[in-house]
Amino acid sequence: TLPKDCPPDVEQLGRSSWTLLHSIAATYPPQPTPAEQADVARFMGLFARLYPCWVCAEDFQRYLERQPVRTGGRDELGTWLCEAHNEVNRKLNKPVFDCSRWQERWRTGWKDGSCD
Ligand code: FAD
Repeated sequence: TLPKDCPPDVEQLGRSSWTLLHSIAATYPPQPTPAEQADVARFMGLFARLYPCWVCAEDFQRYLERQPVRTGGRDELGTWLCEAHNEVNRKLNKPVFDCSRWQERWRTGWKDGSCD
């Protein structure tokens, strides 16, 4: 028999969502237009309201109020997102990620060639 797909739990939803969010940062332009900056700011605001884990969404909305999304360029956006993800990591007692390496994880691949 074929394996059955099940509705995602909070962990699965989280992994897929972080993959999408960090990938958006990885493909965000280094020098975005005002329209691109407005789009990503609106996206994060709406994402934080629609995220289908309500405790997670509430905390993320509060984080956005304290630390407004930084839309000035790819590295700025990716670093902001990395810090947002680290805030959740701390809450869940997961290891904190070194944000100077976010592009290796999500855009270029690790410098040791382990993604080649
Ligand atoms: P994940 O945290 O999903 O990370 C996936 C991969 O991202 C890691 O393997 C690592 O390679 C990389 N990574 C890790 N940290 C960073 C970073 N700082 N920057 C860049 N890359 C990184 N779960 C809850 O139980 N309670 C919550 O309140 C909660 N809030 C959430 C809020 C949001 C906005 C999102 C998207 C998810 C939330 N989650 C929450 C889910 C939680 O963050 C994890 O996704 C889930 O627990 C699965 O964790 P994981 O160990 O597989 O790795």
